[in-house]
Amino acid sequence: MIGLTVLGSTGSIGVSTLDVVARHPDRYNVVALTANRDVDGLFQQCRRFQPAYAVMADSDSALALERRISEAGLSIRVIADVAGLEAVAALDEVDYVMAAIVGAAGLLPALAAVRAGKRLLLANKEALVVSGQLFMDEVERCGASLLPIDSEHNAVFQCMPGGYRQGLERVGVSRILLTASGGPFRTFSREQLAEVTPAQACAHPNWDMGKKISVDSASMMNKGLEVIEACWLFHTGPEAVQVVLHPQSVIHSMVEYVDGSVLAQLGNPDMRTPIAHALAWPERMTSGVTPLDLFTAGRFDFEPPDMERFPCLGLAYQAITAGGGTPAVLNAANEVAVDAFLDGKLKFIDIPRIIEESLQALPVTEERDLEGLLALDGEARVMAEQLIESVA
Ligand code: NAD
Ligand code: MG
Repeated sequence: MIGLTVLGSTGSIGVSTLDVVARHPDRYNVVALTANRDVDGLFQQCRRFQPAYAVMADSDSALALERRISEAGLSIRVIADVAGLEAVAALDEVDYVMAAIVGAAGLLPALAAVRAGKRLLLANKEALVVSGQLFMDEVERCGASLLPIDSEHNAVFQCMPGGYRQGLERVGVSRILLTASGGPFRTFSREQLAEVTPAQACAHPNWDMGKKISVDSASMMNKGLEVIEACWLFHTGPEAVQVVLHPQSVIHSMVEYVDGSVLAQLGNPDMRTPIAHALAWPERMTSGVTPLDLFTAGRFDFEPPDMERFPCLGLAYQAITAGGGTPAVLNAANEVAVDAFLDGKLKFIDIPRIIEESLQALPVTEERDLEGLLALDGEARVMAEQLIESVA
């Protein structure tokens, strides 16, 4: 049996992960589940999967969960805070860790899994955006294995030849073609973008996801974060990563080779495919996903991204090109701006403005150690909050 920790188990990716795992009870043993503050959600999952540990992000929520668990007569150890998250990511009885917390809050627990040499299934792209070089160095140093869950990166991974870690040129790969649906506002004019609401931004046409990534998809910052993620995962620079709009979301990404071949991975847009792929790799197993019917899919369209209507994508290219701490600033400013937008305190079109001004205010192009990156993340949040107040 493979021991599994699911970090962020009550979220969209966490729920899909448990759905796949429940189809293979002979293969996976759920050792730990974690959530931020959703006591009831985590309690229901505890009842169903009976993990040895459950972690909540604060002690009040942990106490509330502990009470429910003891009333139900379950024997599950409940722990609180980041130290608890790090502990359950590194337990001896855990082999695989699904990193599905949203935002930079997931960095330390994901890094704890890496440092314990686990197989890390990485959905939490922000962790890699914040700490790219350091994270990849730790994966190497600690002999961990890193498998991408983001559907695009999982697709690229499936289309890559062996040995790509030695450099893409050496294995004959010329470019990564990262597909993007374009989100719910792909065809909106600037005037229309000025008026969009959080509810519209959270209604993605093809994917059912958490709120933060839904807003990121609408602003195209999700694709920007994914460009940065691709650079780190596939050992390449941003010039080799081309974003291709593909509104049907059936081709999940492609790899272009020097001989003119382009390999693609296709499937219905359902995160259980990349999750099952990474759980079973190098084998394959069922995921519950409906097989792709190409006759129903009908046609595939492609178009270049518009960086003028969607400046977040260009800001992400700028940040990875500048390097060092810049992507950490980009990510922190984006998290703060997205929260403010969801709270009705910032207009959708002001999200890129806050990020751009934060990048200008904190130009940190040198590499930082972990402590330095966490401090920078904090500084960028304060900066972005001040900028938002000045806009409001
Ligand atoms: P979500 O908001 O649905 O779930 C987030 C999970 O993390 C929840 O369990 C929540 O309780 C927990 N959490 C949130 N803040 C926390 C904190 N401060 N401390 C501890 N736990 C916390 O998000 P999601 O859509 O499942 O996305 C999770 C990650 O996966 C994100 O990084 C996202 O970019 C990435 N991702 C998601 C999808 C998708 O289809 N949903 C696809 C690709 C990548
Ligand atoms: Mg994605």
